[in-house]
Amino acid sequence: MDKKSVIIIGGGIGGLFCGAILSKEGYAVKIFEKHFTLGGGLHEFRREGVSFETGMHVVGAFSPGDVLHRICSYLGIMHKITILPEDEDCFELFHMASDGKKYRMPKGKDAFIEALSNEFPEEREHITQYLHALYRICDEVKLYSLEKTDASFQEYSGKFMTSVGEFIDSFTTHPRLRFVLAFCNPLYAGSQYQTPIYIHALISKLYIEGAARLVGGSQQLANLLAEEIRRHGGEIYVNKGITHIEITGKEIDYVATSDGVPHRADWYISSIHPSSLFRLLDTSRLQRSYRERIDSIPNTYSVFTTYIIFKPGAFPFFNYTYYYQDDYSDTWEHDLYTEESWPRGLMFVTPPTTPHDVHAEKMIVNCIMNYETVKPWEHTQTGRRGEAYVAFKKCCEQRVLDKLQEVYPHIRSCIQSVYSATPLTIRDYYNQKEGALYGVKKDCRHIERSHIPIRTKLKNLLMTGQNIKLHGILGVPLTALITCGELVGLDYLLDKINKNKYA
Ligand SMILES: Cc1cc2nc3c(=O)[nH]c(=O)nc-3n(C[C@H](O)[C@H](O)[C@H](O)COP(=O)(O)OP(=O)(O)OC[C@H]3O[C@@H](n4cnc5c(N)ncnc54)[C@H](O)[C@@H]3O)c2cc1C
Repeated sequence: MDKKSVIIIGGGIGGLFCGAILSKEGYAVKIFEKHFTLGGGLHEFRREGVSFETGMHVVGAFSPGDVLHRICSYLGIMHKITILPEDEDCFELFHMASDGKKYRMPKGKDAFIEALSNEFPEEREHITQYLHALYRICDEVKLYSLEKTDASFQEYSGKFMTSVGEFIDSFTTHPRLRFVLAFCNPLYAGSQYQTPIYIHALISKLYIEGAARLVGGSQQLANLLAEEIRRHGGEIYVNKGITHIEITGKEIDYVATSDGVPHRADWYISSIHPSSLFRLLDTSRLQRSYRERIDSIPNTYSVFTTYIIFKPGAFPFFNYTYYYQDDYSDTWEHDLYTEESWPRGLMFVTPPTTPHDVHAEKMIVNCIMNYETVKPWEHTQTGRRGEAYVAFKKCCEQRVLDKLQEVYPHIRSCIQSVYSATPLTIRDYYNQKEGALYGVKKDCRHIERSHIPIRTKLKNLLMTGQNIKLHGILGVPLTALITCGELVGLDYLLDKINKNKYA
């Protein structure tokens, strides 16, 4: 019997995980990627021979028994991935300029409680209760530990209608502690009274339990997934974006690539932003309310990224994620800046090139930036945005370096060169509406509104990727599992993956 076939739009994390799972499960897979390399958020670029990750600096859940370890073992690639766990005694450092405090967050729930209790001794009880409650939420999200469940992430939002801000406030009234508990919110583009608590819980636990880096960069994961897809007979095309989707009746008839060639399959999976998807098809074929609701979901904020190459041996390597901001009150307000006050915080890493780096080859610094800031150039294209844009970028780079200099007074003398990317870079490279850092914004006050179902109004089109359920290294592969589960059965997939539970 002929294999069932599936075409996947987009060769980013979601597309590649879906492709790897479905090709392994006997589907004839074709992936079309518009960019000249695969990977989406896993993609790296090179400058002066130095490779930079674009959208995957810190990962988690890759230790034996953890979710990604199990999924990647099932896919047969785990043994080829080199992971460097971040420092046990400090995987994240939260540095406050106003009082000079440096909060070092250690790995593991108990150590985390202990470290925070040392900083806020009178709050020990509250900190303990908060951490236990956070972990209990994660336990309830069965898919987080690859347990069978009928519930979708959407239902968790319903269950935990609380926002992260309300949740934290319910444990402590200590003003500084409230901010410290929330410091990692840029990892999910958090909004204090909108982001559902389950997102904060899942991301926090992911890193508390196993923050790590991909030694040698994130592109390796994309390449390994691609190898697996090809090994199972799948086909992957780069530089071939989908430019048109033809609909007949209530289903897709074919998709056309940028060279005008039509391609047909039994099933289609879109891993791109739904608004970008809608631009490819005759939207009058979709219910107006459905289209308008999805198209109008607000997006998460974006980011300005500064890529620094150090002179050889000039700057020490550190193995944690560094957060730096002026004051506690900036914690929820990175996106509320004026022209003068940007950037309100830095989040930076020195990505490892080997498992034993002593000196850093490079640094990646992310600063929250809204799409509105680069709107004046929104109708321009990469490499042709004009002199004013180049000057704007240079000015932002200098602001970032000024701020870094507050942490490392001699950093400028260690730098060989600096490059940068704006929200427009993210918009154009990933085709991500408004350069949104993590796709659409989940809002627990209007959870129905920010929900995008995997099944669409077209019978043979499914959705996947960060916009659908959850973003990042954990959320996108889990979303891929749910999407593929629609075709081969989620319980069946979980059974297969869990056979390797302790691999
Ligand atoms: C600066 C930055 C830093 C980040 N850091 C981290 C981190 O440290 N840890 C973490 O877990 N997450 C991080 N993230 C988030 C993570 O990168 C995303 O959640 C993830 O990449 C989303 O995966 P996806 O498959 O949904 O989309 P993507 O990986 O963006 O994939 C979508 C793909 O579709 C392609 N495409 C778009 N339109 C078309 C078309 N018409 N035809 C064909 N192909 C198309 C795009 O080129 C892209 O390759 C970061 C994101 C950014 C922007």
